[in-house]
Amino acid sequence: MITPENCRIGEYIREFRAQTLPVSEEQKRRIDCLYETGMLERKDFAGLIEEREETSAAYIAAKARERQREHFGTKVYLRGLIEFSNICASNCLYCGIRRDNAKAVRYRLGEEAILDCCRAGYGFGFRTFVLQSGEDPWWTDERICSLIQRIRGEFPDCAITLSIGEKTKESYRSYYEAGADRYLLRHETASPELYRRLHPPAQTLQDRIRCLHDLKEIGYQIGAGMMVEAPGQTTEDLVRDLFFLKELQPDMIGIGPFIPHSDTPFGNEKAGSVDLTLFLLSVLRLMFPKVLLPATTALGTVDPRGREKGILAGANVIMPNLSPGDVRGKYLLYDNKICTGDDPEKCSRCMELRMKSIGYAISEERGDAPGWSRRV
Ligand code: SF4
Repeated sequence: MITPENCRIGEYIREFRAQTLPVSEEQKRRIDCLYETGMLERKDFAGLIEEREETSAAYIAAKARERQREHFGTKVYLRGLIEFSNICASNCLYCGIRRDNAKAVRYRLGEEAILDCCRAGYGFGFRTFVLQSGEDPWWTDERICSLIQRIRGEFPDCAITLSIGEKTKESYRSYYEAGADRYLLRHETASPELYRRLHPPAQTLQDRIRCLHDLKEIGYQIGAGMMVEAPGQTTEDLVRDLFFLKELQPDMIGIGPFIPHSDTPFGNEKAGSVDLTLFLLSVLRLMFPKVLLPATTALGTVDPRGREKGILAGANVIMPNLSPGDVRGKYLLYDNKICTGDDPEKCSRCMELRMKSIGYAISEERGDAPGWSRRV
C-alpha cells in the first residue's frame, strides 16, 4: 500500500520539511565546525550522531553536497566489481561466505573468465576493475600476479583494484609491482572489543591495521571503512572509527549498513539503518572532502533508492557488478543482496538512469584519488 511514508512524494515532502525546519543550534554549531575544520572533538561527534534527526540530516547532507561538488562536480565514478571467488579460509562471524558456512554454494572463476568480465566492462565504459574474492588459497601470489599483468597489458588505461583480504607485505608488494593500483580492506571496526566479537580469535584488529599501513607504504591508493550498526556497536565505537580514519587518511572509504546473513552466527541480528549510514556518509565527506566514497550495494539492498540517497549524502562512487550471471547469486555476504540477476549492460544502464534522475552523471574517467601517482 502506498502511504506518505513509503511513496516518492512522501519522501520529497519529508525532505522539503526537513530542509525548511530550523536545525537545532547545537547541531548546527557542530556541523558548521565540521564543515570548516574537517574535525570535531569526541564528545561533539558523539552528540552529532546521537542527536541526529531529519533536520540535521538534511542540513549535513546539503553541506556534504557542497564539498562533493567543489571537488568532483556532479561526476560519479564507476567501479566494475568482479567477484571472482567466494571460497574463503577466514571465518568472519557476519559473512555469508565464511569458511564454516557449509550451505554456501562455492565457485571460483579462472583467469580467462575474469578477463572476459573486464572486456565486457570496458565496452560499457568501466575504467576501474575491482577484483574481489574471499581469502582463497588456490589464488596464490603467482596466479594473482599473472592475472594482474594480463589485465594491465590488455587495459593499460584502466585502474586495477584488489579486494582479496589480509596478506603479507611481500605479497602486497608483488601485486603492486605487477600493476595493481588500489586495495580495499575495510577495517570493519577500530574498536578492539567489537573486532573480537565480530571475528574468530585468529583474526585480529592489529593484523588488519598492519595490512593497511603496509599497503599505504607500498604506494597503493587504499580503502578502509566500517560496518554501520554491526551487532553490539555503540556510538563510541563509531567515533573511534572516525578518529582511526582521520589518522589513517585513506583514499577511499567504504561504509555500509550491517545486514545479517541467515546462515551465520549473526543471522537473527537486526540490520543497520539507512539513516545512520547516510548521516555518516555526510560526516565522512566533511571530514575528507576529496575522498572516494561509494554508495554501496548494501545501502541499495536495505533501501531501493539507497544508492541515489548515498550520492545525495556526499558519496561519489558506485560499484556495479561485472561478474558473470551464473555466479552472481553465489557471492552472498548478506541476505537479499540486490543486482544478482541483471547482466552488466543492464546494470550500467540502470546506474546511468539512476544517477541522471538525481542530477548526476557517470564519469568514464579512472577516478584516481586526487594527487595520487604510481611509484614505479
Ligand atoms: S568478510 Fe571476507 S575474509 Fe571474512 S569471511 Fe567474508 S570473504 Fe572471508
